[in-house]
Amino acid sequence: MAQPGYEAIIIGAGIAGMYQLHRLRELGMRARVFEAGSDVGGTWYWNRYPGARFDSESWSYGYSFSQELLQEWEWPEHFAAQPDTLRYLNHVADKFDLRRDMQFHSRVTAATWDEAATRWTITLESGEEASAPLLITALGPLSAYTLPNIPGRDDFAGPAFHTARWPREGVDLRGKRVGIIGTGATAIQTIQTIAKEVGHLTVFQRTPNWAAPLHNRRITPEEQAQIKASYAEIFERCRQTDTCFIHQADPRRALDVSPEEREAFWEKLYAEPGFGIWVGNFRDVLVDPAANALMTEWAKKKIRERVKDPVTAEKLIPKNHGFGTRRLPLESGYYEVYNQPNVALVDINETPIERITPRGILTSAREHAFDILIYATGFDGVTGPYDRMAITGPGGRSLREDWQGTPRTFLGMLAEGFPNMLMVLGPHTARGNIPRNIEEIVDWLTGLVRYMREHGHRRVEAREDAVEYWARHVEAAASGLLFSQVASWQTGVNRNVAGREEVRRTLGYYGGAVKYRRIAERVAAAGYRELRFA
Ligand code: FAD
Ligand code: NAP
Repeated sequence: MAQPGYEAIIIGAGIAGMYQLHRLRELGMRARVFEAGSDVGGTWYWNRYPGARFDSESWSYGYSFSQELLQEWEWPEHFAAQPDTLRYLNHVADKFDLRRDMQFHSRVTAATWDEAATRWTITLESGEEASAPLLITALGPLSAYTLPNIPGRDDFAGPAFHTARWPREGVDLRGKRVGIIGTGATAIQTIQTIAKEVGHLTVFQRTPNWAAPLHNRRITPEEQAQIKASYAEIFERCRQTDTCFIHQADPRRALDVSPEEREAFWEKLYAEPGFGIWVGNFRDVLVDPAANALMTEWAKKKIRERVKDPVTAEKLIPKNHGFGTRRLPLESGYYEVYNQPNVALVDINETPIERITPRGILTSAREHAFDILIYATGFDGVTGPYDRMAITGPGGRSLREDWQGTPRTFLGMLAEGFPNMLMVLGPHTARGNIPRNIEEIVDWLTGLVRYMREHGHRRVEAREDAVEYWARHVEAAASGLLFSQVASWQTGVNRNVAGREEVRRTLGYYGGAVKYRRIAERVAAAGYRELRFA
């Protein structure tokens, strides 16, 4: 049955969709959010695996738009755990009465543009339809989770869970034989948490990742007061950094300082909380191979110091990418887990997984029997949630086909050839401490919608030359980074997804959030000349 018409449809009730709804309501618009899950929260609704928490400082992650919200909310820890973040997002939804314009259990499978009517019609899994002139996608860069493409995946007789679909009621792992596939940020948090309670844990590792200590702790009452008094400075600091974290690259270059000074700095960063060691490092570490090699050698020492068995330590040292060239997982006692007698590491490059069996996992060496299997196998990043919908523009143009190679966008907010479709955190936007990026993008998109209403425009589309400019600019910004040369979800590689197994794509804007904001603000101030209105 068709729903009444709305002025805007938003897909996704994560941080982005929630804020976008709030902003459109301020314009007096009738908007409706469609969300696959049963409630708000997005990432923090779905990812309930043991140990899930921020690597952003909590007090830099929350929304900044409401002083009242900032002053009434208290983060318990410097890096909050998932239940606290979900509690926070529920609080926001209650406070701003967001749910009354949200529809849950509503996965959107298709969105089709009607040129004559200047409208998008979405179709839900249930067959239900809804339509509106504006379609705003707030799908999240990490919402399309992927299971491993291992033969026999459905044969396992016991329970098996992907970390992004962890049961709400939890899983009793006490004393159990558990196998986990994956060693990304999610797996690292899961492993270090469950190793304390399981009977035996076997970690199946394909590619080790560099990881550094999180140094989380509770926020004291004095710190709480200090945080509340300093929000303006905290958010201003985030505005000034390239990643919107509070950490900014050190102006020195690793290659310009003495080995003693270099190592003293790295020791200091390793002992400090958060991402300083990644995005607050010497400015050449993520761009100059020689500087990166020094950092990488230093980081190897840390793993060797912390892992007692030298053979295991060597297995945990990444060989195919330098320090920080993938998103750095932050850990709390991860390496020490491998000193426990109940934890084993299986390097599946040495003994490949042949199949999943009713009893467990069969490698080329032997069968490992388990009570429970965990797939910490990640996501089809950034474009995955778009690929999973049939988005059809004018003349039957398919977004999935258009983006088979690389996405074509303007500012990552409008896709070439898809009128009235606005993307929050689509490909080719700056990403870092993500809510900061989300707020800026939502504010920019809201400004665009306001402009259209004020000028009586019903249709907006990015001009081809503007898309071409952005495509070149995005590629140029990524080309100098070591990061761009490494396969990961950030470069659009996922070996579990047909067609995405190998080819790296540029899926973010890496010229920095400051420059991104400046360009976007300039476009708006000059009257959106890069867009075509009708
Ligand atoms: P999401 O939170 O992913 O929300 C998107 C929503 O859209 C989801 O609820 C999804 O169900 C819905 N959706 C998607 N497709 C459809 C469809 N077809 N139909 C209906 N609904 C749909 N970022 C940081 O900056 N700092 C961190 O510390 C951090 N930690 C993270 C930890 C984990 C475990 C993960 C997975 C990610 C983390 N991130 C972190 C990234 C995180 O995704 C963002 O911070 C942020 O939550 C993104 O918000 P969003 O609203 O854009 O997307
Ligand atoms: P991920 O980094 O992509 O890691 C997935 C892991 O699964 C990798 O180790 C991968 O190995 C492995 N894998 C996938 N398929 C496999 C297969 N068929 N066989 C064997 N191994 C397989 O995903 P993630 O750990 O979920 O993290 C994704 C992102 O979410 C992070 O980068 C981060 O942005 C965010 N996150 C943040 C936090 C936080 O601290 N706040 C926590 C979790 C997640 P390969 O590397 O060889 O492919």
